[in-house]
Amino acid sequence: MRKNVIAGNWKMNKVLTEANEFVEETVSKAPTNDKVEAIVCAPFPFLASLVEKTKGSSVKIGAQNMHFEESGAFTGEVSPVMLKDLGVTHVVLGHSERRELFAETDEIVNKKTHAAFDHGLIPIVCCGETLEQREANETKSHVETQIKAALKGLSEKQVAETIIAYEPIWAIGTGKTASSADANEVCAHIRNVVKAVTSQEIADQVIIQYGGSVKPANVDELLAQSDIDGALVGGASLEAASFLQLVEAGTK
Ligand code: PGA
Repeated sequence: MRKNVIAGNWKMNKVLTEANEFVEETVSKAPTNDKVEAIVCAPFPFLASLVEKTKGSSVKIGAQNMHFEESGAFTGEVSPVMLKDLGVTHVVLGHSERRELFAETDEIVNKKTHAAFDHGLIPIVCCGETLEQREANETKSHVETQIKAALKGLSEKQVAETIIAYEPIWAIGTGKTASSADANEVCAHIRNVVKAVTSQEIADQVIIQYGGSVKPANVDELLAQSDIDGALVGGASLEAASFLQLVEAGTK
């Protein structure tokens, strides 16, 4: 049985005091249940403090991006070595905002995915179509291209450990959610793509999240779908109470 992974993606929000308060509340109230895993993906400046505050708890801390190189002349970048050293466990890679606003290509996402595994971090690899692609019936072929590129060259074990987040771009931060049936159809397709590049056994293990305006009101229906194993959540992860409701939904 796959567990539900609920990951909050704060994006560029909060200051340190707010981040600390959120995590203190989350740690004290998060359900400890092996059916669910809670991850808070925070901006770089908060990571060391948040890792400290979650020590000994079930809540994990993730980053929202990283460079693929270990060190060097890359002004302004953060390396996987630095994240691992802090005690960060996960890293979001290839979010549509990184792809659209910071020109991340499939090739870069693939390099980052390898770098994450090389340094003991679990990548949360994002994929998803634009509204134009959905309307042109290109959703499945587009996410297939993105996922095949991201997973290229990984071992089967690494593929099995990768978390994939399907996030239709038109549903991110817009209040529009894909219907649970539509979201599930694409997640099932992604699982088939994983099967095609590895095996049924590996495909059955891969965690596939849905993301895009997930909130307490729609999470149960999404998580009830056969191929949706959690959520990557922006807006509704900013308040501890709402994030905790999402994590609670994952225990069912
Ligand atoms: P949203 O963001 O939940 O605010 O739509 C999701 C995401 O970008 O990961």
